[in-house]
Amino acid sequence: MSEFQTHHAVITGGGSGIGLATARLLRAQGARVTILDLTEAAAPAAAEIGAAFLPADVTDAAAIEAIAAQLEADRPPTILVTCAGVLQRTLPPETLSWGEWDRMIAVHLRGTYACCRSFGARMAARRAGAIVTVASVAGVGTGPLHAYGPAKAAIAHLSKGLAAEWGPRGVRVNSVAPGFTETPALDRGLTAGALEAARLEGASALGRLVAPSEVAEAIAFLAGPRGSAITGVVLPVDAGYLVAGDWAAYGGLRGGAEG
Ligand code: NAD
Repeated sequence: MSEFQTHHAVITGGGSGIGLATARLLRAQGARVTILDLTEAAAPAAAEIGAAFLPADVTDAAAIEAIAAQLEADRPPTILVTCAGVLQRTLPPETLSWGEWDRMIAVHLRGTYACCRSFGARMAARRAGAIVTVASVAGVGTGPLHAYGPAKAAIAHLSKGLAAEWGPRGVRVNSVAPGFTETPALDRGLTAGALEAARLEGASALGRLVAPSEVAEAIAFLAGPRGSAITGVVLPVDAGYLVAGDWAAYGGLRGGAEG
């Protein structure tokens, strides 16, 4: 029997990148998957992997609540993965508009909270469930992301609080903190020239970017039976980006073969 055969996973932002890779993996492991994403543009990707699709903006708490109630009456979700997100432009506060700042906080922090609140409360009432939120290395160290970074740090904090809140009622809440991951969102940053692939690769201990499927594997581990004793953790999936950073003070990482 496949690991997720008896599960129904709701994946926000499942139409692209890390969310789509997670949806694909959980489908392959037998889960029923419902993808929530912003527009109908995500529908073909969902159809291709045999997932259901519902258009939804995660910042719209009332809409998310209605969807959670609808799915509960049909086949109650046992897993929630909150991948919906947008990457921020690397602007200084002087030029980062309030509109962009508010949107970043809304999509990431409000959106994650709204989904956890609606789906997690129902899981807690049923006394079973697993939630995996998506934070970022940008929420651990600092960078020129003055809305995205604080929002991701808050997601990690929120996840730990909810793990303590709902643990006694059988709901686990964990978070992954991806490093630079090869998704359409990152591609847009590279194409725009805001980021440089070689620089990102060189900043991690493994000297490379992360694949969406690698983040999906970590999410599946935390969400599934193999992670059954784990709650309240924030797991970096970053090719060693976080451990490499401090070496800059000593002249950077040593070379590979010759080092
Ligand atoms: P992506 O753009 O490939 O996928 C994000 C998906 O979220 C898209 O399908 C988009 O339509 C959807 N989405 C955006 N706003 C939404 C909203 N308000 N409601 C519902 N859906 C919405 O991006 P990705 O790189 O796969 O990012 C997924 C998550 O991983 C994000 O939270 C991102 O911050 C996080 N992350 C990404 C990286 C990276 O390097 N790619 C690194 C760390 C964390």
